[in-house]
Amino acid sequence: MSLNYNKYICWFCGTHPAELNSAVKVKMHRATDREYNYPTRTVFYNKTTINVPRCKKCKSIHLKQLILSIIGSVVVTFFIIYGLLHSYIFEYFLLKNPWMALSIIPILLITGLVMSIFIFPRFVPRASGIRSVRYKIKYPVVQDFKKNGWKFGKKPST
Ligand SMILES: [Zn+2]
Repeated sequence: MSLNYNKYICWFCGTHPAELNSAVKVKMHRATDREYNYPTRTVFYNKTTINVPRCKKCKSIHLKQLILSIIGSVVVTFFIIYGLLHSYIFEYFLLKNPWMALSIIPILLITGLVMSIFIFPRFVPRASGIRSVRYKIKYPVVQDFKKNGWKFGKKPST
């Protein structure tokens, strides 16, 4: 598969040729056999990694989207913590009523929600026609494995 990899077209934009270094790796596993030797139980697994074809351009766009969403959630979290502390200090020292500070929580939550739904997506590059990285599970090879009883992720430790 790796020899002819460059013939594959990127699954996310559908136009550029895929590159092996840019592939999205999907780890999957499937239980093959179980052995009961009381008191231990051993489960045997098959595991595999599927390379979902991706081009260089989509890789860099997905990376930018990841960085922006991390920055976005850090900013929202900071904003909520700052608001809570600020209102708590204000209520406690000025109004001597710490419970009043709790009333600010719904306002902060709504503000955080509005920011993450309406404000932050404006800064994420709107690459038209490029599928999000989550779309990797829709790749036909991954879907075939799923139909055959394979599960996502590395094999469980137990
Ligand atoms: Zn692409």
